[in-house]
Amino acid sequence: MHVLTGGSVADVDGTRAADVAVADGEIVAVGDAAVTEAAGSVAESDDADVTRVDVSGKVVAPGLIDAHVHLMMDARPDVATAAAESDYTASFRAARNLRVAAEAGVVAVRDLGSRGTLALDAGELVADGTLTGPHVVACGRNVIMTGGHGNWFGREADGRAEVRKAAREQLKDGADVLKCMATGGVLTEGAVTGAPELTPDELEAFTDAAAPTDTPTAAHAHGDAGIENAVRAGITSIEHGTFMSRETAELMAEEGTYWVPTASALHGIVDNGVEAGIPEDAVRKAEDAVDAFANAWEHALDAGVTIAMGTDAGTPFNAFEDVAGELAYMVEYGMSPAEVLEAATVNAADLLDLDDVGRVAEGYRADLVVLDADPNDDADAWADPTSVYLGGEHVV
Ligand SMILES: [Zn+2]
Repeated sequence: MHVLTGGSVADVDGTRAADVAVADGEIVAVGDAAVTEAAGSVAESDDADVTRVDVSGKVVAPGLIDAHVHLMMDARPDVATAAAESDYTASFRAARNLRVAAEAGVVAVRDLGSRGTLALDAGELVADGTLTGPHVVACGRNVIMTGGHGNWFGREADGRAEVRKAAREQLKDGADVLKCMATGGVLTEGAVTGAPELTPDELEAFTDAAAPTDTPTAAHAHGDAGIENAVRAGITSIEHGTFMSRETAELMAEEGTYWVPTASALHGIVDNGVEAGIPEDAVRKAEDAVDAFANAWEHALDAGVTIAMGTDAGTPFNAFEDVAGELAYMVEYGMSPAEVLEAATVNAADLLDLDDVGRVAEGYRADLVVLDADPNDDADAWADPTSVYLGGEHVV
């Protein structure tokens, strides 16, 4: 049992002075000294040690939840060159990414596409304590049309029957979420960024395959037609959403579709460019998307679309340790620091179907960060946590 004492607590319920008592990986009390003392005396009667950690002047917040990562990728300029690496190498990269993500204050990630069962297996090894890292929610392989975006590691499928089978294969492998490509992408040579890929009919077969088990679904979608196709098919979250029109944003708000903007992915490419080794095709496509992406934010914020934080970590110059950069972008695009906190904690937790992370409250997992400033006032507070706890264990 330990008690973080003398500081403040910040989560979606606001910022207030409070101590936090943690035992057996869980938050057991949040409140003034008397409350956590009482929790402490219960633990003491079981002969447990009570460690006091002085966090005076600091803020205890829930750890971040990153709703879009690729555990096997390493932020290299040209992702396609990773195709030549072995599965073993990709797995070691995942182990490294998990550790640095945890050190940066990330307590849960959603892997939206890795080779085979790499991310699903990584999640099992985190759960059994073999690997240090955030809780992993994973999709297995991406379901894509033949020759579509990400075809070097996706599961290609065409037509209702094949798409259904491809989706069911991921469920059989233990996928927590299903991911498909509703449009082309920036990082696949030749794929047109905004052009629809899986058809409305195929997208419907895809969500239909997820329905019996209530498995959430995610669609990579840049172009507006592809976003609309995915929303109408009942997809749970739109990833990127670069060319989202006002009408589509309103449709998403109406349908309750989440948006995971992944600003870091676009900025990683545009801010570094060809001179940093990113393929010209990708840089050109990203540059063409910058203005549309700013408009998409305006449309989404005006319409009240629910936003969940996601980085697309692993894509060029978008490293797992730089997660806080995404929160800074979210403020630049018009969200308040408190809204960003909500998007990176409770909204992302809801999207990932996790009910025990995202708040500093009794009964929640002790997945906590200790910060120097109040993240409800200043999103930069996330940049350099003084300490990170995963299941009550001190990571840094
Ligand atoms: Zn991605």
